[in-house]
Amino acid sequence: QAAPDSMKAFWMPFTANKQFKAAPRLLASASGMHYRSVDGREVLDGTAGLWCCNAGHARPRIVEAVKQQIETLDFAPNFSMSSPLPFVLAERLAELTPGDLNHVFYTNSGSESVDSALKIALAYHRARGEGQRTRLIGREKGYHGVGFGGISVGGLPNNRKWFGPLLPGVDHLRHTLDLERNAFSRGLPPSGIELAEDLERMVALHDASTIAAVIIEPISGSAGVVIPPDGYLRRIREICDKYGILLIFDEVITGFGRVGHAFGSQRFNVTPDIITAAKGITNGCVPMGAVFVSEKIHDAFTHGPDGAIDLFHGYTYSGHPLACAAALATLDTYAEENLFDRAIELGDYWEDAIHSLRGLPNVIDIRNFGLVGAIELAPRPGAPGTRAYEVFTRAFHEGNLLTRVTGDVIALSPPLIVERQHIDQIFGILSDIIRTTA
Ligand code: PMP
Repeated sequence: QAAPDSMKAFWMPFTANKQFKAAPRLLASASGMHYRSVDGREVLDGTAGLWCCNAGHARPRIVEAVKQQIETLDFAPNFSMSSPLPFVLAERLAELTPGDLNHVFYTNSGSESVDSALKIALAYHRARGEGQRTRLIGREKGYHGVGFGGISVGGLPNNRKWFGPLLPGVDHLRHTLDLERNAFSRGLPPSGIELAEDLERMVALHDASTIAAVIIEPISGSAGVVIPPDGYLRRIREICDKYGILLIFDEVITGFGRVGHAFGSQRFNVTPDIITAAKGITNGCVPMGAVFVSEKIHDAFTHGPDGAIDLFHGYTYSGHPLACAAALATLDTYAEENLFDRAIELGDYWEDAIHSLRGLPNVIDIRNFGLVGAIELAPRPGAPGTRAYEVFTRAFHEGNLLTRVTGDVIALSPPLIVERQHIDQIFGILSDIIRTTA
């Protein structure tokens, strides 16, 4: 099937950005580690689609489950009714989540998970008689989707600047990478524990008892794959505990095996109060998201301490049968193939491979953790982002490799079924392309 001449009817993110006029990159089919483009090329998937197809593409068990489900029960209304599937799935998910986060609210995307989590946090405090806790704290460069809640707590300027007024009472912690670079430039090696003191600074600006929640991506993806410095997340947890502030981890990217455990929380050994997830929950093949909370938060949100609360929350498609069927088959696939271990098994190999790009022209930083990686390129003077975008475009068209570009960073997050030979291929292609990009 050929690409349409006019792409006007669908606003593809990026086509709006005049800097980035390029031939559309259209994908026709996918299987395992590869996409096939509409012009018939086999393209190695270096990004698990968009951080979501963690088990690789078109896995037979998942395909079969979705097919069977659509033939059996295509939809079940929520609200006083359901199918058994969301209950079965909730039990399975609770086996994977950290600590006591064994209750789930279903959504359809990461953005909805974030908006739901913010609502849950506010309502939780209100139900406990702390209705003055309405302030929210995000991070500079944080990404939490494109809903109004998500862009309010998110900290990427381009995502926010056209859409005000946003949620009131939101502040942003300084980003760890900026803090680190700033300290290094002054000759100070900062520890994560010190960097987390930025939250104390924020608390000191306000009455701590007005703050509802802090939301953080354990690894910030859209900011260019930024790994938390040692001790950072733990110290943030301690400060939240000290002031009765809920800690939300946005695990839309780090959930479902990306960093070597079911959730990043487990890998970093820090349990938040609320986790937002999406993407890998269904291996990307049917839209679904989830918010994980403890029974205490669940009950406060849904009933209040004395059952007095009368609220409405939920989506038409919460716990959709197709999404649940896809998620159950996805979890089976992850378990059967031990895919949550892959990011640890391959961690050293991945690290050596990505660091082999050090010293190439314009490569100014390399970051990796689990099966994520980032290659940061020096911005072209006066045209930030264009060099990385060119590498990304050339990798797709010339190297038959799908990567992700965000700002001056090439980000990588291959499906967890990736093999060493694919890793060699990914960095071989990128090395050639970076070497020859001015
Ligand atoms: N949170 C994070 C950390 C994300 O990376 C994303 C998407 N990349 C979202 C939220 C939003 O998810 P969605 O695009 O499914 O709404």
